[in-house]
Amino acid sequence: MIDYPKVYLKPGKEHSVKRFHPWVFSGAVNRVDEGLQEGDLVAVYNSKDEFLAVGHISIGSIVVRILSFEKVEINHDFWVNRIESACRMRKSIGLLGEANNNVCRLIHGEGDGLPGLIVDFYAGTAVVQCHTVGMYLHREEITEALQSVLGEDLKAVFDKSEGTIPFKSGIEPQNGYLFGETDSFVALEHGLKFNVDWLKGQKTGFFIDQRENRKLLEYYSKGRSVLNMFCYTGGFSFYAMRGGANLVHSVDSSARAIEITKENVELNFPGDKRHEAFAEDAFKFLDQSAQKYDLIILDPPAFAKHKKVLGNALKGYSRLNLKGFQQIKPGGILFTFSCSQVVSKEDFRQAVFVAAANAGRTVRVLHQLTQPADHPVNIFHPEGEYLKGLVLYVE
Ligand code: SAH
Repeated sequence: MIDYPKVYLKPGKEHSVKRFHPWVFSGAVNRVDEGLQEGDLVAVYNSKDEFLAVGHISIGSIVVRILSFEKVEINHDFWVNRIESACRMRKSIGLLGEANNNVCRLIHGEGDGLPGLIVDFYAGTAVVQCHTVGMYLHREEITEALQSVLGEDLKAVFDKSEGTIPFKSGIEPQNGYLFGETDSFVALEHGLKFNVDWLKGQKTGFFIDQRENRKLLEYYSKGRSVLNMFCYTGGFSFYAMRGGANLVHSVDSSARAIEITKENVELNFPGDKRHEAFAEDAFKFLDQSAQKYDLIILDPPAFAKHKKVLGNALKGYSRLNLKGFQQIKPGGILFTFSCSQVVSKEDFRQAVFVAAANAGRTVRVLHQLTQPADHPVNIFHPEGEYLKGLVLYVE
């Protein structure tokens, strides 16, 4: 193995690494070898000079993100092994190479043993998003490994790390193709068609993580009037339409997202008059709308990105859900979500509880939802669980 520069932990600070947690926090570090740069590969050692792990170093409270707990070289074989393992899992559970679904998350960071790396697969185009400088510096090798593993199934690799590399690193990545080029494609999710704006859209272009929750919504949509708040490109709306909703209103503050939503309606249900889309702020829409609905979806962007703003975020969720409850007819159903990683399941449920109490409604929890299997949680890294949802029956 190459002798990677070393990071030494303080005495007794190796417990979490020994339990396979993939992050080393600054408080655990005693000293690091000289001359290290953000993104370098390092070997982590305990105070007795015993090897613990290999990973990427970064500035900030998480000093090392661990790639392996074994003394291995981070080379082509390493990337191929990790990517192969991720693909094998997805194939074995019917998420990759399936006729009705040509979209899935191929690599989900820590969940697939590759902290800092996201790869979403859209009908042959892999959109790579690096969240650390270390991963970004390996993007060419990652591309080669994707080619080795996916072969003919891979048509292009697009790097979309412009907005995700830490600003203070001084690296200024530009989005662009690392291999091939894609004109356009239509994503298929449970047989529904979606235009995906992977070049300019949010995240990697589509919110793959709501696939199973959308399917559940389809089941509850028959004969109901549906309001899809924070609709982005319309995901939940088309499932509601296919499920037999009698009216669907989609709302998002992004005019571009609403444009794509309308295109997607035409793709799936040409000329269908049940759907209407509004480019508006969610709170404004809910304040001004006199209409009540049988089914409402609230899927806002993350209200808290850091623990420091947790209090405000919880107030935000309560305020939003209160408005949701107020717009729902008796006997209606609310699908409500939080994708903030720092908001726990319990916190979120408490925020919704406060909203229900303030609305004076009787509420039963029908389902507790989370992220799908292609966004797996590494059991040693509970922080990987980020999506929470509640399906509520509202009297
Ligand atoms: N439910 C969507 C994903 C939602 S992502 C899906 O299934 O694909 C969150 C969305 O909220 C984004 O599209 C963003 O444009 C929108 N958004 C952010 N702030 C908003 C606001 N104040 N009012 C309405 N939409 C907002």
